[in-house]
This record gives sequence, C-alpha cells and structure tokens, in this order.
Amino acid sequence: MGGYGSGRYMRLGVKNARRVSQFQTVDIRQVRKAHGLTADTPARIEFVYGLRNGPQSIQVSAPVVWVAYPYGLRPFFECPGCGRRCCLLYLAEQCACRQCLGLSYPVQFETKQNQGFRRAWRARLKLVQPDGHSGCGDWIPDWKKPKGMHWRTFERLRNEAHQAAVELWGGPVGQGILQQQAKDAEKLDSLFNRIAARNAPQPNGH
Ligand SMILES: [Zn+2]
Repeated sequence: MGGYGSGRYMRLGVKNARRVSQFQTVDIRQVRKAHGLTADTPARIEFVYGLRNGPQSIQVSAPVVWVAYPYGLRPFFECPGCGRRCCLLYLAEQCACRQCLGLSYPVQFETKQNQGFRRAWRARLKLVQPDGHSGCGDWIPDWKKPKGMHWRTFERLRNEAHQAAVELWGGPVGQGILQQQAKDAEKLDSLFNRIAARNAPQPNGH
C-alpha cells in the first residue's frame, strides 16, 4: 500500500503547524528548464507573488549561483533570507528556504531551531532587509543605520542582532547545523572521489 507519497507524509508528520506542503515553491531546476538558464545569463531571478490571506504583492529577487559538479554546473538559489544555497524557495510571508521559515521536515531539534532562527532574524530585520548576500550572523555596517535613527539606538539594535546570531550559531542548534553541513560535504566528497576513481583509467589494463 501507499507508495512513496504516503511514506513521505508520515515522515513529515511532526508536531509543527507549518508543513512544507502548505507553501508553493519555486524550484531552480524547473526555472532552469523553463527559461533555459545557463551559467552565463544574469544570475538573478525576480518574481512577484501574493498570499491568499496576506500580502498581495511580495517581490523577490533571488541570486542564482552555479556550483561545479563532476558532470557540469548546477544552479542553486541563494536564499534571500540567509544566503544558504537551496533548490527550493518557499513562498510564505517572506520568500526563503525551509530553514529560514522553520518548515517542518525530518530535522531534529526542530522547535529550538525555529526559535533560534526566528529570534536572530527578528533582531536583524529591525535594521537590515535580507538581500541574499548576507546571513543572519554577518556584521551590520554603519551605513545600514536607518535615516533618523539615533546612533545609540542603532548600536543597541545592532548588538542585539549580533548577540542573537552568536547565540544561534554558538549554541547546540547552530552547532548541529554546522556539523550536519560538514557531514553532507564529506558525503559529497566521497561520492565525487568514487566517481573519479571509477572514471580513472585502470593502471594495469585488467
Ligand atoms: Zn534561508
């Protein structure tokens, strides 16, 4: 019974009000196919969408990065929220990757992760809007001070934002994410090595 679909649903059945399937997505692989993206075309996708019970016009401008794989280049979005590379952008109140939106997926420390990211981003959003080029731990330069804001206020908000990011990335949640990323990178490396070894000419012709 129930093939791939139902198995997938079961896995997503974690306690979280927001499910991945609630949001429409933009998939860079489809965009590439549909619009014939190549590595030498402008590396930025812009679009507008609306939500049924929310803002009617949300503008998105997401940079595209090309990453070298053994069989050519593959495009990824740079998440407008955190700058991470991703294939899917979720169309929520803010267009971002699933980590940013805290969407439920088989990830441990789900709730804490959401809290950490939400806190870090909420603090940062008082001063900077996501532009796809900076993550929530990046330094906020002086010229980002909003017009009319006192320097003292700016510095306090900036400290709060950085403190939240330090707590996120220094804490168990951020460390867990970094470890996972390192593990993924290792897996990818060993995969590439296997491919390279298979394609290499046999040394003594057996
Ligand atoms: Zn993100």
